[in-house]
Amino acid sequence: MRKLLVANWKENPKTEKQALKLFNHVAKAAKGSSVEVVICPPFVYIEEISAAFKKLKSKKNFSFGAQDVFWEEKGPYTSEVGPKMLKSLGAKYVIVGHSERRKWLHETDAMVNKKIKLALRDGLKIILCVGEPIAVRRKGFAAAEKFVKNQLKKDLAGIPPTQARRDVTIAYEPIWAIGTGRSDKPEDAMRIAKIIKKFAKANVLYGGSVNRRNIADFVQLKEIAGALVGGASIKAEEFGKMIKIVSKR
Ligand code: PEP
Repeated sequence: MRKLLVANWKENPKTEKQALKLFNHVAKAAKGSSVEVVICPPFVYIEEISAAFKKLKSKKNFSFGAQDVFWEEKGPYTSEVGPKMLKSLGAKYVIVGHSERRKWLHETDAMVNKKIKLALRDGLKIILCVGEPIAVRRKGFAAAEKFVKNQLKKDLAGIPPTQARRDVTIAYEPIWAIGTGRSDKPEDAMRIAKIIKKFAKANVLYGGSVNRRNIADFVQLKEIAGALVGGASIKAEEFGKMIKIVSKR
């Protein structure tokens, strides 16, 4: 199965010029590779990235998405962006339920569920982020699995398993591993990924301090369908190398 690498640029880079430069670098690295690469820039750059994307000669295994979406398609919801708006610009994916949004924007599972439902209805593919805090993992695997299953149950409520299998990818991201430089052990991430795969009937990515030195250890595992990459995805050279490493596998 082709591995999936999702680049979550978060609130980066600072200018449109830098965003385009990064996009072009990644597009070059992704060209001809056997990995599916998805770039998720901030909303503000999506129109420009969409235009640059249209100009690419080869779009094979390469697409872009958003880092969030709203649960109403239009109306009096200041600053929000609906899935049809993203679709109209050519976006294919949307990240939903990232732990940073759950933390800083107080996004709940009920909100995540509404976002997923509308985005699926409007034809976007979902990258759903789940993962436990460190206090839970310290209690052991059973506690972490229970935490993640509970998120999945609520986030995917009402979504038919056939649709989840086809259009939803789960990113298992232990919160304590995100942006800390302290990634999970591949065998531990695999253990939880296996549970998620069985429970949600969907493919599972690993996310949390993945870089060019450790990515092979994760993606070589058959239970792990690829990676969601934050910090390393805004370093053009580094991310380009990661694409090459995964492509070789
Ligand atoms: C993320 O943003 O989902 C993420 C995993 O970040 P990082 O790779 O920086 O840990």
